[in-house]
Amino acid sequence: MSERPPVTVIGAGIVGVCCALYLQREGFRVRLVDRAAPGEGASLGNAGNLGFASCVPAAMPGILKKVPRMLFDADAPLKLRWSHLPKALPWFLRFVANARPARVEAIADARDSLLKRLHEGYQPLIEDAGAEGLINPSGLMMTWESEEAFQGAAYALDLRRRRGVTFDILDGHEARQIEPSLARNVARAVFIPRLAHVLDPLKLTQTLARNFDRRGGEILRASVRGFEIGPDGPRRILTENGTLDAGTIVIAAGVWSRALAAELGTAVPLEAERGYHVMFADPPLRMRVAVMSGDRYIAVTHMADGVRATGIAEFAAPDAPPDMANARLVQRHAEALIPALKSDPTSQWMGPRPSHPDSKPVIGRSPRFPNVFFAFGHDHIGLALGGITGKLVGELVAGRAPSVDLAPFRPDRF
Ligand SMILES: Cc1cc2nc3c(=O)[nH]c(=O)nc-3n(C[C@H](O)[C@H](O)[C@H](O)COP(=O)(O)OP(=O)(O)OC[C@H]3O[C@@H](n4cnc5c(N)ncnc54)[C@H](O)[C@@H]3O)c2cc1C
Repeated sequence: MSERPPVTVIGAGIVGVCCALYLQREGFRVRLVDRAAPGEGASLGNAGNLGFASCVPAAMPGILKKVPRMLFDADAPLKLRWSHLPKALPWFLRFVANARPARVEAIADARDSLLKRLHEGYQPLIEDAGAEGLINPSGLMMTWESEEAFQGAAYALDLRRRRGVTFDILDGHEARQIEPSLARNVARAVFIPRLAHVLDPLKLTQTLARNFDRRGGEILRASVRGFEIGPDGPRRILTENGTLDAGTIVIAAGVWSRALAAELGTAVPLEAERGYHVMFADPPLRMRVAVMSGDRYIAVTHMADGVRATGIAEFAAPDAPPDMANARLVQRHAEALIPALKSDPTSQWMGPRPSHPDSKPVIGRSPRFPNVFFAFGHDHIGLALGGITGKLVGELVAGRAPSVDLAPFRPDRF
């Protein structure tokens, strides 16, 4: 039995499970609480990319001109439930302010400081769980269907290049030699070798959670409703089934962390950027690499149980019913990019990316209570950053200096 005090991690998505595993490695007795089974939030249906090249933030110079056009273009990936606009407006204003070039460079540096350590974060967890077979390091192909669209991506590619990401620039013919399933009209491509994807993101979280359990961790199914606050901070966690002694608390509940952080006196501008996927379970092709379309804003990945196409950023309440017209839009784009996919998809899914307006997660100690830590808001790169976030949370809770400068990720930066 460990001598360290108990820690409760709220949220068993990829981020919470990795936090729980690292805390366990630090010698804490760890309880992982989720209202659902591990991995069934946003972590279930993502594109699977362990995108070490994803330092580019969502808000880029020129975004202010693009957003209104995108909102009124039925084929564009940006969607807004208009009833949600009053709630989301402050977020959008901050988002636009982050598109200034100096901010973009600083945000790219911050994201890159975590992404560079992606494999260091995951490797021990994946090895210990015997999950190596879920990782395919086949590389990522980014595509464009016109020279003009490719030129429009020059700054984003330069941001990556200046942070040490190496890639090959290809014409359409060269791209199709690597990935023959690409449509004839793909004119330009960038291939990032060795960029890995997860063959089944849900299975990865489940496998890691099972390993946490095997190593003596406790997984509790309960919905957290709030906290009983004592003079030194929260002393009880209130769930629908009763109360739990608090000890140390880590909030890792994806987009739902906003409400839990607010209960604990910290306001964060976290919005649901809801994405959709369609699965083609029995595709008549075998894709060699993962693909991401720079002009269609979709990703297509051959996973263990078929081809998954993902996309869309829909701003709406996290738990509002999905609008599966968005999944059909992803499907249309996927069939245009990979023509052999033309068949009925077997399933559709929606999940909320937890997004801050400055495209950076919150990783750090609560500004209000010393026994509370935050690990949420990983937007489009939460799968990639699960391992390293867990490692940093382990270091913080253990009272050691974190191995990455966490100043850019402070919870009180907003
Ligand atoms: C379409 C799409 C494609 C994506 N593609 C990629 C990709 O290729 N690569 C990448 O790195 N990232 C990708 N992402 C982003 C990534 O999936 C997320 O950033 C990541 O899954 C967030 O993980 P999380 O653990 O923070 O949140 P979640 O997985 O959402 O987990 C949060 C958990 O908290 C639980 N919870 C919430 N509230 C409570 C409560 N009150 N009590 C108890 N439990 C609670 C939920 O049940 C849930 O299990 C994609 C996302 C989408 C939607």
